[in-house]
Amino acid sequence: MAFKPANNIQDLQYFGEFGGVNPSISDSSTYTFLSAKTMFDTFEGNAEGCYLYSRHSSPSNLYLGEALAAMEGTETATVTASGMGAITPVLLQLCGSGDHVVSSRTIYGGTYAFLKNFTPRLGVSTSFVDITKLDIVEAAITPKTKVLYCESVSNPLLEVADIKGLANLAKKHNLQLVVDNTFSPLSISPKKLGADVVIHSLTKFINGTSDTVGGVVCGTQEFIDQLRNVNDGAAMLLGSTMDSLRSASVLKNLRTLHIRMQQHSKNATYLAKKFENAGLKTVYPGLESHPSHQLFKSMMNPEYGFGGMLTIDVGSLDKANTLMELMQERNLGYLAVSLGFYKTLFSAPGSSTSSEIPEDEQAEMGLSDGLIRFSIGLDADIERTFDMMHQCMTELGILEIEMA
Ligand SMILES: *Cc1c(COP(=O)(O)O)cnc(C)c1O
Repeated sequence: MAFKPANNIQDLQYFGEFGGVNPSISDSSTYTFLSAKTMFDTFEGNAEGCYLYSRHSSPSNLYLGEALAAMEGTETATVTASGMGAITPVLLQLCGSGDHVVSSRTIYGGTYAFLKNFTPRLGVSTSFVDITKLDIVEAAITPKTKVLYCESVSNPLLEVADIKGLANLAKKHNLQLVVDNTFSPLSISPKKLGADVVIHSLTKFINGTSDTVGGVVCGTQEFIDQLRNVNDGAAMLLGSTMDSLRSASVLKNLRTLHIRMQQHSKNATYLAKKFENAGLKTVYPGLESHPSHQLFKSMMNPEYGFGGMLTIDVGSLDKANTLMELMQERNLGYLAVSLGFYKTLFSAPGSSTSSEIPEDEQAEMGLSDGLIRFSIGLDADIERTFDMMHQCMTELGILEIEMA
């Protein structure tokens, strides 16, 4: 039977203390115990359903975590203060001094910087590879490798990871496959395809209102318990837990994720086709011309489409910048990093979100100066949006004026 992530979220029922249709917000950092013995057991991790201290867990964080675990089809989840606050403890939990990571080379700039510049200080090394080539990935695995790391749809180049293929490699070499699914919530369910740990930056599509940062780690009960262990859990000890007030607000936004993803995907598909037909170099997994179009199709939950992210290449950074400024002036979106907002957001990743990646490496991975990354918004009239964007591009000489 098909995996139905939105049904799984919707089927959960949490009521507030007084029958509220939303669960009550746990506005406490610490919790009382009727008996001292229970407090001791909770410290030891043996008191199911008891709360100790909100850095460890809180009822509000539990509600959000369980909803996200239901979405990803994992046993459980833990929510964190940011996406990086999810990624870094996972990597530090799984790797120690002497260990090795094989990672996609096209990943979020912060994750790249963490693996490239930070973890070597702790004795963890990383090989960055073209994740779309399984033979290259396998060749990079050494006896020290512990983790295979990728994004389902990569930032910013929208490369698609063959999660089943990678999961087979992970099994064969006894590695943990960690997948950052931030760009494709609902559309792709990495756990169902064999991933061990699924991470999201909730900051993006899942929260969808660009008013907070947040993150989640979805995995087995055993792994999440390890992360939260009071003695040696990286999430517990590094302290990147989410605040309860915020997890309550993210949970409310999660309720509409399925509708939003459908609209993001519908609008992005429309624009990608139009841009491509107009002669622009366009990358969108929903286009037949995308090298991994068939792969994405084979992995996706089809009702949510190919997502809201697309890129175009307008040839130079100058052109990219003037186009983005003009589009913002005409209120077609905002010149801003991040993604998943109701409004279209655009940025030139080479000089912003991926600037952590050195220029020569950017060139090697195909990240060109003129690349504009779009997070397509929830526009009610995407035809009008396209016409107005097209007008901007013709005015700037990026597109030839069409013959009447
Ligand atoms: C934004 C982002 C992150 C980091 O998340 P924060 O919430 O900003 O910490 C990680 N991975 C991807 C793919 C992202 O887009």
